[in-house]
Amino acid sequence: MSPFEQRIRAHLAELEQAGLRRTLRVPHGIDLSSNDYLGLATHPCIVERMAAAVKELGAGSTGSRLLRGQRDCFEAVERKFAAFKGTERALYFSSGYLANIAVLTTFCEVGDVIHSDELNHASIIDGVRLSRAKGVVYPHATVPQASSFVVTESVFSMDGDFAPLPALAATGATLIVDEAHAVGIFGEHGSGLIEEAGIGKEVFLSINTAGKALGVSGAFVAGPEWAIEYLIQRARPFIFSTAAPPAVAVAIDASLDVIAAEPERRLRLRTLARYLSQRLGMPESDSPIVPFILGENQRALAVAEQLQAEGFDVRAIRPPTVPPGTARLRISLNANLTEEILDRFAAALERACKASS
Ligand code: PMP
Repeated sequence: MSPFEQRIRAHLAELEQAGLRRTLRVPHGIDLSSNDYLGLATHPCIVERMAAAVKELGAGSTGSRLLRGQRDCFEAVERKFAAFKGTERALYFSSGYLANIAVLTTFCEVGDVIHSDELNHASIIDGVRLSRAKGVVYPHATVPQASSFVVTESVFSMDGDFAPLPALAATGATLIVDEAHAVGIFGEHGSGLIEEAGIGKEVFLSINTAGKALGVSGAFVAGPEWAIEYLIQRARPFIFSTAAPPAVAVAIDASLDVIAAEPERRLRLRTLARYLSQRLGMPESDSPIVPFILGENQRALAVAEQLQAEGFDVRAIRPPTVPPGTARLRISLNANLTEEILDRFAAALERACKASS
């Protein structure tokens, strides 16, 4: 074995020992772990429009949007998304991870300061690192004294709680909001927590993933015309990457139609979230993400395994995704669940916790 292979095998063994080695698992059982909050990934209208688009437009886009990858369906869905979000313009990226990297590296320069919530997603952390600006991490869900940039998630991905958006907007800083877990769910039209907080005018850019509540994949950056134009000119993840398959844009277009036509899905999701948080004796919340903190990695794994054995697909989330000592079940809800399923799940969770203590 080469010294290099030895080194990597030693790292793998360390992960194993710390209960941090991940395995790739095909899902089984009742979905309590996906981000398909509205159940749109399998919605027949969306699936059919996507399948028809593959037949019409082909499997792949064949190039970057700035070269041969451009299609009318990308522009159409971007116009539709900007109208949905109430902004001048939007630009589609092939993933939310890339969209965050693009925004932070394109607009933040040497001499700028980016204030970033301590629980922000890895793609924001990496974007801050890759930008040439100075990154300053502020305590979770507080309001930094900031004059430059502030970047935050609106609904936090692993805790399910909300950023203090109106107070952040009032700082006067250039505000960037990642709506990954809010778009499709919050606000009268379902466009996100920015809409619900009524601070659209105070936000510079929002990042809105299409792979979660929208049920497809990729992400839109939404904001003023001049900023989107600048992204097209300068954002490296946009310029130097093959455009998504055109059918993906058509599927998202269909998903936005369903979100407009079926508001009952997002209302149902919020009702189920309130039901489960109450049932688990937690503060009532209508967030689709319910964190059930267990502390030790091995305990979180043991509880998740027992629940999986009982037919519930719920996953243990461990560091570095969450801070050390806060390993947890990240229970995520979707509009297709029922109160009866959540009752059975709560009872199974109680049993699993007792067995592991
Ligand atoms: N931001 C947040 C807050 C997320 O939770 C995620 C996905 N886990 C992303 C960005 C990245 O989005 P994508 O999965 O589309 O790359």
